[in-house]
Amino acid sequence: MSKKDAKKDGQKLSERLCFDFKHIGKEYPEQFKKADKFCEGYKEFLDKAKTERECVKESLRIAKEAGFTEFDREAEHYPGRRAYYNNRGKSLILVTYGDKPLSEGVRFNIAHLDSPRLDLKPYPLYEQDELALFKTHYYGGIKKYQWGTVPLSMHGMVVLKDGTKVEVSVGEKEGEPQFVISDLLIHLAGKQQERPLKEGLRGEELNILVGSIPYMDEEDYKEPVKLMALKLLNDKYGMTEEDFLRAEIEFVPSVKAVDIGLDRSMVGAYGQDDRVCVYTALMAAIEVDKPEYTTVTVLTDKEEIGSDGNTGMASMMLDHFMEDLCEKSGAKLRDVYKHSVCLSSDVNAAYDPTFADVFEKNNSSFLNHGPVLTKYTGSRGKSSSNDASAETMAQFIAFMEENDVIWQAGELGKVDEGGGGTIAMFMGNRDVDTVDLGVPVLSMHAPFEITSKLDVYYTYKAYKAFYK
Ligand code: MN
Ligand code: MN
Repeated sequence: MSKKDAKKDGQKLSERLCFDFKHIGKEYPEQFKKADKFCEGYKEFLDKAKTERECVKESLRIAKEAGFTEFDREAEHYPGRRAYYNNRGKSLILVTYGDKPLSEGVRFNIAHLDSPRLDLKPYPLYEQDELALFKTHYYGGIKKYQWGTVPLSMHGMVVLKDGTKVEVSVGEKEGEPQFVISDLLIHLAGKQQERPLKEGLRGEELNILVGSIPYMDEEDYKEPVKLMALKLLNDKYGMTEEDFLRAEIEFVPSVKAVDIGLDRSMVGAYGQDDRVCVYTALMAAIEVDKPEYTTVTVLTDKEEIGSDGNTGMASMMLDHFMEDLCEKSGAKLRDVYKHSVCLSSDVNAAYDPTFADVFEKNNSSFLNHGPVLTKYTGSRGKSSSNDASAETMAQFIAFMEENDVIWQAGELGKVDEGGGGTIAMFMGNRDVDTVDLGVPVLSMHAPFEITSKLDVYYTYKAYKAFYK
């Protein structure tokens, strides 16, 4: 054998034995146009759905338009029937009945529609040194220093004393005022600059500027600026200070979703973790017509604070719904769970060349390489992780390869660098074969997060293939 032939054999061997992840832009450059178009809808969705309640509302509007009607446990099952279950306006389940009986299992796709943000404290409004401010308590994991000097909008709802529910929204519409947390000027920040980064702004420094003009008449008031703010809120929403105690008011970045980069290849927006998976899962859910297995899309709340509470995945919410779903067919819930497969659709950390040292490059996800299949999450030795089995991985890899979905695998950073969890474990704990699949994100949990349009589009393709 000549030297040349030997090299050829080696090449063949390498092609046969080695594996590498693909780049969508290199494999299928023509897909960008479709991805770009798909992301127009995605950006609109993000601008309308900045809180969990708004996300349920907008998802429900889209689902109803696609023919989903309110779930009724007495209704007949027939393939193609579509129903929704709205849990307290804060989480949403969409079901499309399949050909196979429920006892053979369903296909779950679960994503979370809450994102890190700043919630008002129960008694939030105060005046200090002639300024009116709101005290906040952050929701989810944030780098607090990132939230100063960022324009914020006020979202949420208030239950008035008479029981009327009032929706609150200030700062999103053109021309509306916005809010902000002040930060110290650099000239006087000598001591602040020496704080550890995690204390750049402290929790009790995340105070939102509400007003500066006092309420004036013949009388002297103790807190006239606060009074003015209360008057304006009362004029607009009919609320009083006591009503803050019956409210959920959330402050989120006012920024709208935009294209990022000269090539417009990325989306920059608030709340992409995990509304990117919510939107792609929702699109897949409304497009599935008569699936083989019944599809159950769960858009859940509370993930960012541990999934506890009756709108989160650690609660009985899903089990109760599934029991209702089974009732008519007589299927046993434990059989349904045991035979089901579940995609836990959540984002993963995209490799960032500027902070390369926290990533292990071979096992990181990269922009434009498609949805990330994440076998396990967790921290300190996979603690609190679902850790999908080889069989489950095989099943999902086959789905994607059969349907020409370019995908990648990834871990959340280097071993012992940090870590994080998803809702996969709550489905695994229900005896369902589960794995994580979602979009890689840059600057995750920042007020402005970045995704790649090709990844968003291919994640939608993956979810669609899963439901087929
Ligand atoms: Mn998150
Ligand atoms: Mn997430």
